[in-house]
Amino acid sequence: MFKVTVLASTGFDYNQQKKLDSSIRKFESVMNSDDLKSRILHYKCSLGMRFENNLGLTNQQVFEKIYAGEENYMPGSNRTADLYLVLVKKWKMPFASSQSIGFTLPNQKEIHTYTWWFNRAEDHQYAGYIAHEWAHKIGFDHSFDPTPTRNYSVPYAFGGIVEELAKGLK
Ligand SMILES: [Zn+2]
Repeated sequence: MFKVTVLASTGFDYNQQKKLDSSIRKFESVMNSDDLKSRILHYKCSLGMRFENNLGLTNQQVFEKIYAGEENYMPGSNRTADLYLVLVKKWKMPFASSQSIGFTLPNQKEIHTYTWWFNRAEDHQYAGYIAHEWAHKIGFDHSFDPTPTRNYSVPYAFGGIVEELAKGLK
């Protein structure tokens, strides 16, 4: 059994916390589904049966690394996603063509999300976003620029699959 634990959540009001709780429940449920395991183990893209920026790991090894749940701020594999979530008040800029939905710094444990996006996101979308950012915390990265293959990196691919599978949950 893989666990998803929120060790701290900051900036969420009552209703936002309810959405957060629901997202976490779905993320954890997806993590324990055979669907997700199979999608990671059999992952393939235009690069072949592998992820981009895979640290030299096979799909099986990526799978094992994800399920070990060893964050860079919490050594030891405890088979748990240990999360520190922060909601940051920020409105959408009216004329911005694209705008960041949050940020996380490599050496920080916190995953920051902006209210403009969180308030309109559905729980499965936030689950996917957390999965993407958490993948960074366990050591996976992707190119900064939107290259044609960036979506095949572990954070993007894993986050996308989690979002997709979480969408099918009640
Ligand atoms: Zn990222």
